[in-house]
Amino acid sequence: MARIGILTCSNATQDLGCSSASCLADLRKRAGAFAKYPSGEPLDLVGIINCPGCPTLTGADKLLQRIRGITEFGVDAIHFTYCIKALCPFTGKYRKALAEAFPDIKVVVGTHKSRLTEEEFRGRVKRLFCQDKKIMADMVLKKK
Ligand code: SF4
Repeated sequence: MARIGILTCSNATQDLGCSSASCLADLRKRAGAFAKYPSGEPLDLVGIINCPGCPTLTGADKLLQRIRGITEFGVDAIHFTYCIKALCPFTGKYRKALAEAFPDIKVVVGTHKSRLTEEEFRGRVKRLFCQDKKIMADMVLKKK
């Protein structure tokens, strides 16, 4: 049995409301990055945790602290979600930091397969972020 943890991007989950449904669907179907596990090996999802946010000058330290929410429960692999793969400029650094901190855990970049190219995905996510949205200042200043 492979015990799996999933790390998601907080821009996708917290800001854009992604429920990780596509990642979990492909885990159940053993598709996308989960197709690489041997067919007879059961996959056990141990936990999902979101990145603590873009790292500023603290580098990977925030993530190394946060990821204990999964590693403390014993996992064989941590999968970075498709959105991290496509969106996060720190993917390579995070992968290296986790591999150094947890040498017994396999770090896999990817979860579900995508119908879009990464460039198309990034373009669509950018449009979501840039929608005309009201903020508190609009209410306080009574802008329409
Ligand atoms: S550091 Fe990467 S994974 Fe974390 S919130 Fe920022 S873009 Fe998302």
